[in-house]
Formats: sequence, C-alpha cells, structure tokens
Amino acid sequence: MRFAGLALIVALLLVAPLRGDVDKYEVYAVRFATIANFRVASLVAGADPARRMDIAMMIWVLKGIDGRVAIVDSGFHREQYFRQFAVKDYIKPSDAIAPLGLKPESVTDLIVSHMHWDHAGGIDLFPSARVWIQKDEYDYYTGDAWQSPNTHGGIDPDDVQAIVKRNIAGKVSFVRGDDETTVSGLSFNVGGKHTWASQYVGVQTPKATVVIASDNMYLYENLDARKPIAQTLDGVSNLRAQDRMRSLASDPRLVVPGHDPAVFDRFPHVSDRIVRIE
Ligand SMILES: [Zn+2]
Repeated sequence: MRFAGLALIVALLLVAPLRGDVDKYEVYAVRFATIANFRVASLVAGADPARRMDIAMMIWVLKGIDGRVAIVDSGFHREQYFRQFAVKDYIKPSDAIAPLGLKPESVTDLIVSHMHWDHAGGIDLFPSARVWIQKDEYDYYTGDAWQSPNTHGGIDPDDVQAIVKRNIAGKVSFVRGDDETTVSGLSFNVGGKHTWASQYVGVQTPKATVVIASDNMYLYENLDARKPIAQTLDGVSNLRAQDRMRSLASDPRLVVPGHDPAVFDRFPHVSDRIVRIE
C-alpha cells in the first residue's frame, strides 16, 4: 500500500512537468502576394458567380520557443503562375520572412498542407527544412495521380520532383493521419479532402491553440456560413473537418483560413505583410 502510494507520487512528479512542458510557438501569417479579382465561387461552394475578390497568398511561420522554426506551406515562385494568374505585390516567400529575423536556411521544418502549386511551390526555397506531409498525399501525387490526365490538377511536376529529392536526401517525414504526439506543441490533422490527403495544423501558443487551416477553409466565410470550400474531392469531408477545426481551436477566431485577406485586418501587424496570430 505504502509502496503503491509512493509509486503514484513519483509517477505524478514525472508526468506533471512533462505536461507543462509542451513546446509553444509564436504564430505569424506572412503575405507574400495577392491574386487579384479571383472568383469567390471557386472558394465558397454556391457563391454568386459574379463575386470577385483579391485573395491573399500566404505562408505561416511557427517560431518555437525551443529554437525550432517551422513554416506551414511554402508559397510559389515558378514563372508560369505569373502568366496564368493576376499576381500582385509579390515577394519570394523565402524573403518575406526576413522581418521576423529569419533567413531561408533558418527554417528547420516545412509542413506541407497539400501539394497544390501555391502551397508546395516553394519547397526548393527552403533547402534545409525537413518536410512534413501526409503519407497518403505524398504517395498519391508522386504516383497514382499521374496515371490519368485529370487527377493532378494544380500539381506542378517540378514540385513533385522537389519533394522526391528531399525524401531521397532523408528529409521528408510522413504523417500518418491525425498525429498530435510526434512534434511537441503541434498536431497534424487530416483535412477536408481539398486534395487527396490535405492536412491542417494545430499549434500551441503561450496562450491558446491556433489552427492553421490552409485551404481546408479558404475564407472566414466558409466557417461563418458553414459552407464547404468549392474545391474538394467529396461533398462531406470538408464541413466535418471545419467543425473539427473549430473545436480544436481555443476560439473560432483562431482558425486561420488559407486565402482570406481579412487575416491582415484582424490581427496585430508586426510589419507590412506580417501579423501575429494571438
Ligand atoms: Zn491555395
């Protein structure tokens, strides 16, 4: 009895500090470009086809108190997208993080939410980063997706090669479904079928849990009006994922959408193009 009591106290002493010791991150949204005059109906299912808006192109920086510098998504830089889209106010994503005191080589980890050109298009801009991606997303877009002409829309062959090269260099970690234990202070979550296996990320800050939705929720309007994103591989997963994002975040205002320029009105600026999510 006495021994059991002692063992329990020892066990509690061991567990308690661990619990308090979860790594914490400062979270920033960094805007590296704008795409002008974008159709809202391509973002919000059922929106008026006449509605247009300038959308924000962003990456998110997670600055760890332990020195880890992770980014969620990597933006884009390849030529053809500047011809295809009305890109404005562009700065290379790897340069856009400079106001945070960061160089491209300071980025230790790159979490890829999904393989679309505007999110996975800058893997090669962050040469030292370990890439974290859902294993199913990696497998599909480096393999099966290219077996048919219409299953790789928005995926750039050069980005596929970049991530394969990173894997050959031993610097890709596969995430298998929902995982909140592999990286302290971060949770990886299966997204709303925006692509084959898109993911979103939960982040512990000193005060709260922030959710970086990326394109699993394009705009605040998706969450506010409970409308699925317009681009999803099935009709049901997206709303389910949005509900989970809402419950995972400490507050719904801390679910950060993939392309909503309002992010830069709702949070305090640390520089022109950068806000701190808190
Ligand atoms: Zn996107």
